[in-house]
Amino acid sequence: MKVIIIGSGIGGLAAGLALKRHGHEPVIYERVTEIRPVGAALSVWSNGIKCLNYLGLGAQVKALGGQMDAMSYREGASGEIMTAFSLLPLMERVGQRPYPVARAELQEMLSDEFGRDDIHLGKELTQVSETEGGVRAVFSDGSSAEGDFLIGADGARSTVRDYVRATPTERSYSGYVNWNGLVSADESIAPLDAWTTYVAQGKRASVMPVGGGRFYFFFDVPIKAGLPNDRAAYKRDLRAHFEGWAAPVQTLIDAIDAEKTNRVEIHDVDPFDEWSRGRVVILGDAAHNTSPDLGQGACMAMEDAVVLAQCFAAHDGPPDMIGKRFAQLRAPRCADLVLKARARGAVTHGADPAVTDAWYAELRTETGETIINGIASNIEGGPFA
Ligand code: FAD
Repeated sequence: MKVIIIGSGIGGLAAGLALKRHGHEPVIYERVTEIRPVGAALSVWSNGIKCLNYLGLGAQVKALGGQMDAMSYREGASGEIMTAFSLLPLMERVGQRPYPVARAELQEMLSDEFGRDDIHLGKELTQVSETEGGVRAVFSDGSSAEGDFLIGADGARSTVRDYVRATPTERSYSGYVNWNGLVSADESIAPLDAWTTYVAQGKRASVMPVGGGRFYFFFDVPIKAGLPNDRAAYKRDLRAHFEGWAAPVQTLIDAIDAEKTNRVEIHDVDPFDEWSRGRVVILGDAAHNTSPDLGQGACMAMEDAVVLAQCFAAHDGPPDMIGKRFAQLRAPRCADLVLKARARGAVTHGADPAVTDAWYAELRTETGETIINGIASNIEGGPFA
């Protein structure tokens, strides 16, 4: 089938790759003229890596990924270790190592593998319609494309979603702002092979290793949405938010390059299951916009890609059954993860300070088992559980 994909993020690229592998002809149309990923890096958990393995990219993602063997939480001001444990039991249980990766490198890998000739940049979708026996996409430059099927992988503010859903989609603020970027890995900040998170007052300062001797860092601070986003003030603001925190957190703030740091007000969307209309379907953030509190948004988008391609392969009836079947298979799992991430985020970010303090107390008795069980349960619901 000739498949129009809107959006060349991780969801659109993975869907394109999966469909090519099943013998279809996908073409991607992307709004921007130059791909500049939002967010510096991603933790691709084992379920996401299993999807990349399925797409034949296991060795390539391993080469990009950081070696994340352990995990620890430290108290923000003192730097004292609250809990520290190996992640190897998680890997044994789910049968796959996770890899934190630089987002731009993952997207480049996927774009190269998909084939850049089949990605049309500078094509902003403005309108979708169904024709007799097909679909039509109209772009803001007046051009259009026709195909047998259309996939909206156009992210959290999806235009395709507006065509698919009868009701408008509201995004809700998750209550915190996230700054993220890449720095050189430095043992005076944290061990080089661990995901290390400093916590206090509903805030987090965190690093995890990505390939190339770098740390992916992020800071979360529960503050109002809509405050000025002034890049020149990023370091000053972080110093103020993390004043009095342990020396490694100060070293991290000193090390970051504000010009290459992202500041994101975190949002999510209440789960819904209208993911398809006729020959049009949505996936990734367009279908299930989650807060990053489980690190599962892109992993879910890759799972969607694999399952959608399998729905294409299994289909022998009218094409609108592909989208319906896909939504039936995917919406319940994704709803579960969106709501779990929302609940996790509330605890982490001090929605109720007493609950957050109780969590900090639990961390001091954590052996790793509860956290590993939680991460494994996110991974195990995927298509390669
Ligand atoms: P996007 O990446 O948003 O791609 C959508 C694409 O569609 C864009 O390129 C956009 O330009 C294009 N587009 C939009 N509208 C149009 C249009 N009208 N016409 C044409 N093109 C259009 N996930 C994880 O798995 N692990 C993590 O550790 C993780 N960390 C995160 C940290 C932060 C701070 C945030 C904000 C998110 C994080 N996520 C993580 C989630 C992850 O980033 C997303 O779930 C994932 O990028 C979604 O991919 P997507 O392809 O669906 O959407």
